[in-house]
Amino acid sequence: MTLVVVAIPVVRADAASRALEHAAEAKALGADMVEWRIDAMAEAEEAVQAAMRLVRESPLPCIVTIRDESEGGAFSGDEADRLRIWSALADAQAPPAYLDIELSAVRESQQTKEFVASRHRREGHEDSPRVILSFHDFRGRPPGLSGKTAELWADPSAAIAKIAWTARTERDNLEAFELMQARAKPTIALCMGEHGLMSRVLAPKFGGFLTYARLDEHGTAPGQPSLHELLNEWSIRSIDSSTRVFGVMGYPISHSRSPAVHNAWFRAAKVNGRLFPISVAPIWEAFKATLGEFLACKGLDFSGAAVTAPHKVHALRYLEECAGTIEESARRAGAVNTIVHGASGALRGLNTDVLALEEVLGAAMAHGRRGRELKGARALVLGAGGAARAAVAALAAAGASVTILNRTPRHAAAIANSYERPKRKGSSRSAHAHPEVVAHSSAHMGAERFDLIANCTTVGMQGGATPEGDPLPERVELDESVLVFDAVYTPKDTPLLKRAMSAGARTLGGESMFEAQAALQFKAWTGKLPPRG
Ligand code: NAP
Repeated sequence: MTLVVVAIPVVRADAASRALEHAAEAKALGADMVEWRIDAMAEAEEAVQAAMRLVRESPLPCIVTIRDESEGGAFSGDEADRLRIWSALADAQAPPAYLDIELSAVRESQQTKEFVASRHRREGHEDSPRVILSFHDFRGRPPGLSGKTAELWADPSAAIAKIAWTARTERDNLEAFELMQARAKPTIALCMGEHGLMSRVLAPKFGGFLTYARLDEHGTAPGQPSLHELLNEWSIRSIDSSTRVFGVMGYPISHSRSPAVHNAWFRAAKVNGRLFPISVAPIWEAFKATLGEFLACKGLDFSGAAVTAPHKVHALRYLEECAGTIEESARRAGAVNTIVHGASGALRGLNTDVLALEEVLGAAMAHGRRGRELKGARALVLGAGGAARAAVAALAAAGASVTILNRTPRHAAAIANSYERPKRKGSSRSAHAHPEVVAHSSAHMGAERFDLIANCTTVGMQGGATPEGDPLPERVELDESVLVFDAVYTPKDTPLLKRAMSAGARTLGGESMFEAQAALQFKAWTGKLPPRG
């Protein structure tokens, strides 16, 4: 079992009582062990006494760490200060379970080397702390990573080998998984920073010796999840070798709600799966390399991905290049937002944005006294990106005639040109049988009326370039017969929806689309719809 260890920084010797309270809290919340991070207080006169007390009164088995500043810690004193504390703790009646000592210290100090070797000789004695021999690189992936790990494994004084580095991208986690699987002794291999979450959460899947958590906002390394997140949101206790792994791939990705939504559904439906954010630089090569490596990673069971901006077209290309199955929804939109990786290794791509929009726009249009069907309706789509493509595909398939309006007219024209022109008989258009998709320029738009207006731009989106903006030209009429949909879902009441409401129009927020498309992704991956509630 992978231990869940709460790292507790103790910055001053007189803060020991408070630190012990934190440890009791960690125990009550379900941690297995605490790590006393006493680097900052190690030079104080009372350091030995305070450290002894922390270990003696620790409510959980503990690790004591005095991390040197050369490896990201706060200790900048003399090696003799650390040796004084380590020796006192090792000889105490109730010693800590582990001492974390850097490989570099063992290499550079003869006394430290002798101390660590003496611990090794006493290994097996109940009253002797075991050594976690560690190596950290906060700058990034260390050169010679596997050689460094082999050095930790080969050192007889290391009971546990620990290697930690700052992940440059989520792909670095895959190397941590490889190291844990290839371990020659109990191993901690983890990635720090915003891209390293996967290595921390999935440690039990790969037999990692332990993973660290923070109790409050003060972690001891960048990227540490809180104990609450690890135990409750990631349900780390039920992660095992059969856990299926999913990702949401996009750039930027930290704002994505997909991990929270899908992980809650996995829990509620008792599906042993976890979905992680995967940040992928906004170019085809990065997408291709990342997806390829995740799919190929031994033992990961990478079972599928949600794909978001700007990679939906890249996902379609990937499936085309590897002869995957591309479903009709994705063909129609010219984009894939969901990849399913079957047990046989086969890949399938679909577009649940299109399917969700057909569902939610159809239902919202039909709803109420003024309800009508999409067939024959006049729709205006604002934008020409991924969401707009999905909206046009959904509306055209439902028989609406669609006008696309976009800041960059040629992007709108490119979508319109991918649809067949409606057949004309004399001057009468058969728009119902052959819905029309045309691009329009805002400069030429008169006082027009539409039955449905769908904002698929990023205008009005919190965190975007124009959060206060409203993309609908003033001349477009708004009244109670019009349905206004905004794909933007943060905030719920976008400037466009507020304006539509005050003009008496019916409105539909992006949340409806988000939930419907996510539910269809969940079904594609698990075979069942997410539980309600
Ligand atoms: P995208 O592919 O990047 O497209 C963005 C579109 O917005 C482009 O047409 C762009 O015009 C336009 N745009 C950007 N800034 C603009 C500005 N200042 N003024 C006018 N137009 C501007 O993005 P996307 O994936 O389609 O997403 C669009 C929005 O839909 C986002 O807010 C996203 O969160 C939301 N969305 C919601 C869901 C859901 O489930 N509710 C699903 C997908 C997307 P140019 O062509 O001129 O660059």
